[in-house]
Amino acid sequence: MTLITMSRYRTTNPATGELLQTFPTLTDEELEQRVRAAVEAYRSWRTTTPEERAAILARAAELYEERAEHLAQTITREMGKPITAARGEIKTVTGIFQYYATEGPAALLPEPIEVRGTGSAYIRREPLGVLLGVMPWNFPHYQVARFVAPSLLVGNAVMLKHASNCAASALEIEQLLHDAGVPEGVYTNLFADHQHVEALVADDRIQGVSLTGSDAVGARIGRVAGENVKKAVLELGGSDPFVVLDDADVEKAAAGAVQGRLVNGGQTCTSSKRIIVVDAIYDRFMEHFLEKMGAVAFGDPLHEDTLVGPLSSASAVEEVDELVRDAVDKGAEVLLGGKPRAGEGAYYEPTVLTGVGREARAFSEEIFGPVAVVYRAGDEQQAIDMANDSPYGLSSSVYSEDPNHAQRVGAELETGMVWVNSTSKSSAELPFGGVKKSGFGRELGRLGLEEFANRKLIRIP
Ligand code: NAP
Repeated sequence: MTLITMSRYRTTNPATGELLQTFPTLTDEELEQRVRAAVEAYRSWRTTTPEERAAILARAAELYEERAEHLAQTITREMGKPITAARGEIKTVTGIFQYYATEGPAALLPEPIEVRGTGSAYIRREPLGVLLGVMPWNFPHYQVARFVAPSLLVGNAVMLKHASNCAASALEIEQLLHDAGVPEGVYTNLFADHQHVEALVADDRIQGVSLTGSDAVGARIGRVAGENVKKAVLELGGSDPFVVLDDADVEKAAAGAVQGRLVNGGQTCTSSKRIIVVDAIYDRFMEHFLEKMGAVAFGDPLHEDTLVGPLSSASAVEEVDELVRDAVDKGAEVLLGGKPRAGEGAYYEPTVLTGVGREARAFSEEIFGPVAVVYRAGDEQQAIDMANDSPYGLSSSVYSEDPNHAQRVGAELETGMVWVNSTSKSSAELPFGGVKKSGFGRELGRLGLEEFANRKLIRIP
């Protein structure tokens, strides 16, 4: 049966609301052809050497450098990321491909095991097969790269369903990888609908799924993966605590909190969504924080200095506004912003809320926009307890002029990552991932290389 659907894949410029392009969704037959082609292409790809695959990744990194400006412009046009940040994203992606191209082959060498008894044993890292990636729009290239580069290096084939609002970037990624030498079928972009995704996760020809997205979608994909005993990596939402201790440099901490909350318009899984400041320095911190939040460059994403551009869509603005209004209805105070910007485009004002109580949705839900929620903690232990009082556990920041103090507090936090005197960032060599409802599995670094590899034991007694 052929599914005839209105295409969900469309590019709308969130800075203007203008619909720029639509892309046809795959029919069932087209999807089936692509799966067959991927299974076929995988058979020969898996027989190439890690060095051959690394050379292709190195070429992809070169193409990322060559095409950086064009790719960045597409990102800004379709999801509203300020152009300077879009260029930064492409640079990070270049680094990811370079990292796996240079470090990957050695990491795939057989790993000897010291055996108890006679003979020898080692672990080989082999591909699993054809994998499915399901990716979000907030970092259209970076999210894809951190799954695709290690997966291809190991020898897997990848089918990629990107978010429906960054289809132009999805096609540019596919083209770049093919131009770099990744064979047709070894990397395939899929303009698939949601039923297709679930069908693929259940399909025995697909050996693993990696989803980066919301915890609601993670739960659905995880359920289907579980029912089908399928390897899954889930990189989900976060409500990262940004903890300011009493011995922090308040000005530095305030500057960090502004960056941590506002980069990418606040639409980052690791945004500093809950700023927790110990009582002793709360007032001084707030003075600097409010001043800096009120002075951020907000507006046209094509302007080089803009820190906060539009959100990804008009509906994203509605969702943020709903959470803010709910918090205010339940007693929160708006110290800055607190509403969509009037006029054209999907803009939401940089906002600061205090007094958000447990009953407000914003207390436990992720606000995916430029809204900082600040909490006053009576003392350090209370700050730690507040930081851990969240369903999420992705990343965290701890500010203290004594790095050992910050690390001691960091050790108490229920998160997958801790950054000392810094907001969360990403780099190719650093494993990325969370605990609790932020998901499971790791991407990037050596750990990222292990996720979709068969760590096969060879024992020669
Ligand atoms: P989303 O709504 O969960 O969508 C993510 C991907 O899943 C998109 O490709 C989407 O496709 C697809 N999808 C949505 N519903 C689906 C369904 N029922 N069945 C199959 N596929 C489905 O998330 P988003 O709004 O794009 O991204 C924001 C979220 O991602 C936030 O929660 C953020 O924290 C999280 N995130 C996490 C990380 C991390 O590393 N932990 C990094 C970045 C973002 P369509 O576009 O076609 O709906």
